[in-house]
Amino acid sequence: MKRMLRRSTMTLMITLAFIGGMCYFVFKLVTGASDWVDQPYNAHIGGSGGLAQAGAIYDCNGVVLAQTVDGERVYNESESVRRATLHAVGDNSLNISTAAQSMYRSQLSGYNLLLGLNMPESLRTTNDITLTIDSTVCKAAYDVLASYDKKGACVIYNYKTGEVVCSVSTKGYDPQNPPEITEENESEYDGVYLDNVRSSSYAPGSIFKIVTAAAAIENIPDIYERSWTCYGSHEIGGSDITCVEAHGTVDFKYAMACSCNYVFAELATELGPEIMKQTADKMGINSSFEADGVKLAKGHYNADGATENQLAWSGVGQYDDRVNPLQMAIICGAIANSGESVNPTFIKDKSLLASVGIKFGTGGQTLLNSDTAAALDEIMRYTVSSYYGDNLFGGLTVCAKTGTAEVGEDKAPNGWMVGYAKDEKCPLAFACVVEESGFGFTYAGPVVEAAMIQAAKNLGAI
Ligand SMILES: [Zn+2]
Repeated sequence: MKRMLRRSTMTLMITLAFIGGMCYFVFKLVTGASDWVDQPYNAHIGGSGGLAQAGAIYDCNGVVLAQTVDGERVYNESESVRRATLHAVGDNSLNISTAAQSMYRSQLSGYNLLLGLNMPESLRTTNDITLTIDSTVCKAAYDVLASYDKKGACVIYNYKTGEVVCSVSTKGYDPQNPPEITEENESEYDGVYLDNVRSSSYAPGSIFKIVTAAAAIENIPDIYERSWTCYGSHEIGGSDITCVEAHGTVDFKYAMACSCNYVFAELATELGPEIMKQTADKMGINSSFEADGVKLAKGHYNADGATENQLAWSGVGQYDDRVNPLQMAIICGAIANSGESVNPTFIKDKSLLASVGIKFGTGGQTLLNSDTAAALDEIMRYTVSSYYGDNLFGGLTVCAKTGTAEVGEDKAPNGWMVGYAKDEKCPLAFACVVEESGFGFTYAGPVVEAAMIQAAKNLGAI
């Protein structure tokens, strides 16, 4: 009897363990299977056959960026378009984690919980995905950016709808003929899997004067009555703050237009680290915005504990200031939108976002008081009309700021241009950075110009 009881207990325990194990397995299958199945090493969809049974990816005009033909993944026929859209679309091996092929691989491949990937092809619901990017605009930006053979990023987004029209990151590669990265050539392909638009942050240089200007407008009542005389070099806090030339006597608006470091260095030291940080915080510099649930790289501003000279440099976007390209486009869009930001999206079909639990349109914030936004709008408009010239953007009414950020003694600076078009037909904000290049106007300027003119033409604005 005793033995019977012991045997029954053992059987019961084994049965319970078995049931428990099954429950655990089913739970993991339901919650994790779509992730396992989408791993690049799953030969059904990854590996040599690529996304062999996946839907197509289109740009906003229905141009095919990627599709499966006879079990092979085929990308756009133009190499330039393939390279221009690499970081938005992705590659067969899912190396670029923020790209559509990586983020929506379950939807593309038609994975089904009951039958996995073994659903008969006739019944399978592989999804096509339409992106918001316009391949003609991406190509226009890419052709100029790639001609420098530098790393960089160019992003343009609609600050009314949030739709990203252009998103180009260099350097990259051709997804149709991906390189085999070896020890010998790895320096050539350094950073190619990173989307610089969403995932990189950079020293901003003078584009950060937008933040310093906002702090000055809100905290220095007589800012518009003041004037300064720039001799090209001024000692602040024991070391020199230098300008590219002696700007002479300037008022606040012209100091922004000609990008006088001396004036903005003086303003930062007068405002102090607390007010500077408060303004940077409110404008979203120290937080990460989101695009389709992906957190963008954070910027950075904090001059707490800095010396007076470092505080001065922090006001002109040096010291340890950092910004992300798409973050700057969002901030510029908020200036155009009376201070309200709109979160960006890369996906045209919002029901796809809903199916993966992303609520589009959430997260918009007030980055600026409407009065401050209006003042920045005027000053950035004046910067273009009085300094860069209105002929730059094919007749568009543009507000902008360039930057040339020093990144190290023996390196060329990062060239930047950020801003937006005010035209109702063309509500686009932009940001472009070219790493270790030179003047922002010389390097980032032509990239933005080519892309904005193409985008405006497509919208019928010029
Ligand atoms: Zn100056």
